Amino acid sequence: MAQPPFDLIVIGAGPGGYVAAIRAAQLGMRVACIDKQYLGGTCLNVGCIPSKALLDSTFKYTETKHLLGHHGIKTGDVSFDLPAMLGRKDGVVKKMTDGIAYLFKKNKVEHVIGSARLAAPGLVEVTRDGQSQSLAAKNIVIATGSEPSQLPHLPFDHKFIIDSTDALALAEVPKRLIVVGAGAIGLELGSVWNRLGSQVLVLEFMDRILPGMDREMTAALQRLLEKQGMEFRLKTSAESAKVENGRVQVARSGGEGGAEKGIEECDKLLVAVGRRPHTDGLGLSELGVATDRRGFVTIDRNFATNIPGIYAIGDVVGGLMLAHKAEEEGIAFVELLAGKAGHVNYRACPNVVYTHPELAQVGLTEEDAKARGEIRVGKFPFSANGRARSMDDFDGLVKVIGDATTDRLLGVHILGAHASDMIAETTLAMEFSSSVEDIARSFHAHPTLPEAVKEAALAVEKRAIHI
Ligand SMILES: Cc1cc2nc3c(=O)[nH]c(=O)nc-3n(C[C@H](O)[C@H](O)[C@H](O)COP(=O)(O)OP(=O)(O)OC[C@H]3O[C@@H](n4cnc5c(N)ncnc54)[C@H](O)[C@@H]3O)c2cc1C
Repeated sequence: MAQPPFDLIVIGAGPGGYVAAIRAAQLGMRVACIDKQYLGGTCLNVGCIPSKALLDSTFKYTETKHLLGHHGIKTGDVSFDLPAMLGRKDGVVKKMTDGIAYLFKKNKVEHVIGSARLAAPGLVEVTRDGQSQSLAAKNIVIATGSEPSQLPHLPFDHKFIIDSTDALALAEVPKRLIVVGAGAIGLELGSVWNRLGSQVLVLEFMDRILPGMDREMTAALQRLLEKQGMEFRLKTSAESAKVENGRVQVARSGGEGGAEKGIEECDKLLVAVGRRPHTDGLGLSELGVATDRRGFVTIDRNFATNIPGIYAIGDVVGGLMLAHKAEEEGIAFVELLAGKAGHVNYRACPNVVYTHPELAQVGLTEEDAKARGEIRVGKFPFSANGRARSMDDFDGLVKVIGDATTDRLLGVHILGAHASDMIAETTLAMEFSSSVEDIARSFHAHPTLPEAVKEAALAVEKRAIHI
């Protein structure tokens, strides 16, 4: 029997799929990576990268317009050019996706364009422009990611009722934008348009923003976003929406008392209530690949589905829907396949919200840590950090949580400028199962923002120096 031409077929070229494909090629496997629309998946094309490009541009605008004066810098009239801003974002995306094409070539990963369907174990049918081809491989990994969830009573028309992809490319700044859902995507995109002058109202069904993150930190972030002009209505749901004369009428109910009803008008309604697995047309049920009740592909600890030779990684298997989680799963899966010791330590997976200030966390929230046993908590505000003061960007704080008996580091939460960079130190500490004392005793260059992390670690034993 002829040997199948590939050792591994990767379906989906997002951060899970393309990273798995490159690592497999490095390990000597013959690899094909199939994608129906782009290289880099959601992350590079309509997710992490374009959203950060717009967050960075709009922050520079806000900073120049409102904050540079504090440094004694006179700027005169400051305005923005939206098409140029969107064009820069598209340019960043293109550079990054071209980079993956280059990496595929360099590593001899065969890039196949088309929609993939699992025809049989070891066989994938790829369709493009009505033409089909079959690819065979010993192993197949599903890395087809996720797509925005739609609420049945607020269906996307992509003009007035929009998803996150639409919100990355609005041709003009909406006078009023309503965001349904106070998760990371809703708050980041809400921030982008708020900074450009949109009146942003966030409707959230829960009694708090960013469920799953530390409650004290998210409440502090909410207050700071309110200061920037964003409005929040918690315990509130958007019941329905209709478009009249180019405006969206949104019926809401809930509120503090629970029975408050009202109509809100806006130019765009962004529904950002989470993401669902992207498995349409993949042939999962025909082949009997098990999924859970929400449609996520079910896997074991080696990323294997119930069908031999078929594996899955990334957003399509659920859990934390983050690019770096998909990447780590891709690498661990391939290394296990190659007989190496791949593993993913989900307890040390950082999570960042790129508002200003940024909110970053790794490990347990204070609520979850408390529920598991005795803890000690240390906090340090950036207002007492020399570097944050010299930057004139000192909103926020660091919170370090340790086990009261063993001093093991359980969680770190950072609300502040550059929190996304600062969380790396503590992610490494979590990975090495370090104690709080390890951070407290490590050198931290002066003057730097991470000194606040050291001080919060010292504060666990009530021995912070600068508060
Ligand atoms: C606005 C926004 C901002 C985000 N910001 C961040 C962030 O800052 N940090 C972070 O960590 N995460 C962020 N995310 C989440 C992140 O984008 C995802 O977690 C990540 O892309 C998941 O990677 P993946 O490889 O599992 O899937 P995806 O990136 O979704 O890639 C899946 C790929 O599979 C392809 N595909 C699907 N079905 C088929 C098929 N049948 N045949 C062929 N190809 C197929 C798709 O075309 C796609 O390219 C953000 C998401 C959004 C929407």
